[in-house]
Amino acid sequence: MKPFILLDPGHGGIIDGTYQTAGKRSPLWSNGTQLFEGEFNRAITQGISQALTLRGIENKIIVPELEDISLRIRASRANHLATQYPHHQCLLISVHANAGGGSGFEIYTSRGHTNSDIIADHITHAFTQVFPNKPLRSDYSDGDSDKERGFYMLRKTRMAAVLTENFFMDNEVECCLILMSPTGRQKIIDYHVKGILAWITDSEKRDLSV
Ligand SMILES: [Zn+2]
Repeated sequence: MKPFILLDPGHGGIIDGTYQTAGKRSPLWSNGTQLFEGEFNRAITQGISQALTLRGIENKIIVPELEDISLRIRASRANHLATQYPHHQCLLISVHANAGGGSGFEIYTSRGHTNSDIIADHITHAFTQVFPNKPLRSDYSDGDSDKERGFYMLRKTRMAAVLTENFFMDNEVECCLILMSPTGRQKIIDYHVKGILAWITDSEKRDLSV
């Protein structure tokens, strides 16, 4: 089956200088800069989308607008798109930056052993290749409320789905050197794309073995 990748940039964007989501931002750093998570999430999903399109892989950003669209509407958009592409293998990736104190990368899937575990393994592996010296967090016991709400996208969508938490926006080093830097953003885009490409190759092998 051909792949169809759905990309979900978490939270809202910036409209006429006004960030659309309460919270979900870094502290104001001493150099006067600040990260707004929804802007970061959009930059990453746009980069992933462009890279996939260049490779001829069908994809769609499910929240193209800058308003903060509710999780209920996001999930229903994803499920509706999947019904319009019944002969495709759909995959949803929800992109976020982390907060709450810590460092590194986390990835979440829906509960149980599902097809989502396969894409999670591929993205995790790609992360360790692109950022060999950055922590891969596998202890999720300190999950905060954002993650609980974030799980909605994994619970309510009917395709393979993962949510990535890409570094900590309240960690000054990670925020300023990775999340707010063009090079850092490109590397984050790269491990998502590498993971997706590996998942597609894997899916093609599984198709052939059926
Ligand atoms: Zn978030």
